[in-house]
Amino acid sequence: MLPGYVALTFDDGPHPGSTVALLRALKAGRARATFFIWAEHALQHPGLLRAQQAARMWIGNHTFSHPRLTQLKEPAAYQELARAQQAIRQITGQAPTLFRPPYGDTDERVQAGAAGLGLAEVLWTVDSRDWAGATSEEIVAAAATVQPGGIILLHDSGYQATIDAVPGILRGLADRGLRPGRIGYQLAADGRRCAVAVAP
Ligand code: ZN
Repeated sequence: MLPGYVALTFDDGPHPGSTVALLRALKAGRARATFFIWAEHALQHPGLLRAQQAARMWIGNHTFSHPRLTQLKEPAAYQELARAQQAIRQITGQAPTLFRPPYGDTDERVQAGAAGLGLAEVLWTVDSRDWAGATSEEIVAAAATVQPGGIILLHDSGYQATIDAVPGILRGLADRGLRPGRIGYQLAADGRRCAVAVAP
């Protein structure tokens, strides 16, 4: 049987209270993850973004200042994505190809602007609720519900519970024959592209 893949994703970093610890926990489990970068934070902590890149993590765009994109008029919404692209490229030398809208708040206008920047949208299939104060046990339990191809939402924003949950998440995936993968795309029945975890 082919191995199944799932994608671990960490939003809102880099953060001085969690990025290094998350990278250490992922490395210990020989896992790679996708980090959706809040570009203002990356400009404050460029060394942490470079550390993510050096650890072979995948880097995505999570806007410049983390607004609700559908509430912004143009060109402000587009500029949120464009400024983040520019900041991330300036720090890492590479422009992301994935983006995640803050709060999952998106519409066709946002997606069209992103596409113009070469960005494909990624939401998630499992929300760990670490942002809502979930304990590490609750985060591990939520991650254990992910299906092959699925995408788990976590945060790189200083939450100790998220850091503590990583070994348990990775053990739970391994027990189910699932491996951490990168985010790719497949065509859904209606012809839309949808994000799915695939082999690294
Ligand atoms: Zn966010």
